[in-house]
Amino acid sequence: MGGNTRTGVSRREFVRRSGAGAAAMVGAGALSASVAQAQGSAAAIPSKWTLEADVVVIGSGAAGMPAAIRARDAGASVIVVDTNYDVGGHAMICGGNVPLGGGTSAQKKFNIEDSPDILFRDLTDWSVVEVNGIPDYRYNDRAVQRALADNEALNYEFLVENGVPFVDKSPDNFGGHAIGVSAKRENHCVWDKGQSLESPAGAGGTNLMRPLEASARKKGVRFLLNYHMDVIFRERPNAGRVLGIKASYTPTVLPGTSAPLKSFRSDGNIDMSAKTVTIRARKAVIIGTGGNTGNVNFRRMFDPRLTEEYPLAAGEFSPQDASGELAAMAIGATLWGTANQTMDRNGALRKRPIIGTPSNYVEWKKESPIFPKVGATGLTVRNWQDAIIVNQVGKRFYNEMQDGYPNGTTQGSQAFLNPYVQGDWRNASKIKYTPMNYVDAALAINEGSTAPDFSAGPQWAIFDAEAAKREKWNMNPSNVRSEYFFTAATLAELAPLLTKCPHQKVNMPAANLEATVKRYNELVDLGVDQDFGKPKPLYKIETGPFYAAWATFTVHDTYAGLRINMKCQVMDMQGQVIPGLYCGGESAAGSSQHGTGRSTTQGFIAGKEAAAERGR
Ligand SMILES: Cc1cc2nc3c(=O)[nH]c(=O)nc-3n(C[C@H](O)[C@H](O)[C@H](O)COP(=O)(O)OP(=O)(O)OC[C@H]3O[C@@H](n4cnc5c(N)ncnc54)[C@H](O)[C@@H]3O)c2cc1C
Repeated sequence: MGGNTRTGVSRREFVRRSGAGAAAMVGAGALSASVAQAQGSAAAIPSKWTLEADVVVIGSGAAGMPAAIRARDAGASVIVVDTNYDVGGHAMICGGNVPLGGGTSAQKKFNIEDSPDILFRDLTDWSVVEVNGIPDYRYNDRAVQRALADNEALNYEFLVENGVPFVDKSPDNFGGHAIGVSAKRENHCVWDKGQSLESPAGAGGTNLMRPLEASARKKGVRFLLNYHMDVIFRERPNAGRVLGIKASYTPTVLPGTSAPLKSFRSDGNIDMSAKTVTIRARKAVIIGTGGNTGNVNFRRMFDPRLTEEYPLAAGEFSPQDASGELAAMAIGATLWGTANQTMDRNGALRKRPIIGTPSNYVEWKKESPIFPKVGATGLTVRNWQDAIIVNQVGKRFYNEMQDGYPNGTTQGSQAFLNPYVQGDWRNASKIKYTPMNYVDAALAINEGSTAPDFSAGPQWAIFDAEAAKREKWNMNPSNVRSEYFFTAATLAELAPLLTKCPHQKVNMPAANLEATVKRYNELVDLGVDQDFGKPKPLYKIETGPFYAAWATFTVHDTYAGLRINMKCQVMDMQGQVIPGLYCGGESAAGSSQHGTGRSTTQGFIAGKEAAAERGR
């Protein structure tokens, strides 16, 4: 050890400079140095480094892990730094659906015609639109898509070679978003052994990431877990090569414990006890930090409606705090392709049938190692006839049976554009325009919103004792979170309790809630929802006790980030490459494709290119 860095700015200084609420959902201290850099004060280059490697990969998720393996395969020494106690990021928690096309061996085996050219034309087909008119591919960067199209099939074989056990059946379109309409490209990893230290969410993504992790460790990739990259060093503030990074210690200490949580595997882990470390990258730094949707101020650059109350899907496990973007922007990188994130697109904002906990995207079980952090399983709603959803002032605003838009591949364009003719300008006129969306209705500015942000506030599921019986809900403290679940003998007593939730900024007028429920009960008598079109409302809300459970939508994907070229090199405002800096996955821009397919492919590209750098 050793290390002789001068720190950027203190947390107090950061808060003073950027405003107290600046990092509502992210560790403000962790971001302080990169924000300071973005504001113009370049971080001092260490005269002595704590660690060094040819390639330093930031983030061990869908982009970072393949990048590390590829760089190692090419002979580079590699250190992967991750802020989490474990590897895998969102990819570990994900459903394990991996869209890869362009002529994979799986596609060939099942006689699915595809090629890099077909894939490229699909991924840039302006004529495909979702049911709300949003174009899936129109604003994709052509260079980024060409690189994806040329490398997806190669990446598929690479993943298989490194142990990923895709299910041996025909690729399909289930689970993919914006993966192109003309061929089936979705491959699947499954996991049926539940939640444990090995599989924190019990998700298919375990069988994508654990084999890759095992392969990386076997090949000699070293992991520095529990360290958050705060700064990327460059020779001069906006010129020269990237030299390395600084990271600060971020252990996961669960409530009720004192020792940091340990990762599933430890071989190859670098054991550090320093508060901060500096790592020299002799060849390159690769950013795979997973995007920006956990950073409220950053995500609001693209969509100002997304105020702090909307949780990040799987934010309990890994942060997506824009730290990669901020650190790169601080040394001259530019954002790119922002249209993909400003659009009101499917998949970015999602409703889930889990209520009574803000961790309502993943179905966390008590066996998960991070369950103490999550706090409650939530209640799973089997039938939205059993609850109404109201906004922060106690008013209904939509038909609770409806979710978001059908997505662009599985249920949307794929179904409507039948037959699909690639690039045919008539495609756009074939979809049935269906712009109704729960999230948009929920986000509409309403009478309760106040300055400075005019937040639309949380949404609450309201139900009664009879509904709880029908759903067989067990509302004990390990199933519902105290500040996100309330009960009272009457609706008038229930409404004022909601301000105990930190995100309910306004008082819900009891009279509103009473009037809403009275009206809903009338609609049940009528058998028709004249107000919002819920198909035949079935059950009155009339038997106390009454309940209010958090039912707020979550923020999911990041669709814009750092500008990259075909080699995944990060670029600056002048369109020049920043030597020695790469990026892939959700922190990289130019692609509207959801998830693991593009992220692993960009890691695949970046790892090889980074290892080929001459370095210094
Ligand atoms: C519940 C859920 C289900 C999903 N299901 C699917 C699916 O079935 N199919 C699909 O294609 N996609 C799916 N996705 C999306 C997919 O998981 C992501 O798009 C993908 O993992 C993004 O890859 P990434 O490498 O950019 O980020 P991640 O996989 O999230 O990895 C980022 C890593 O960077 C680390 N990190 C962040 N900041 C720092 C820092 N400053 N310093 C050090 N480390 C840092 C994080 O801890 C994390 O380990 C799902 C996502 C979720 C949340």
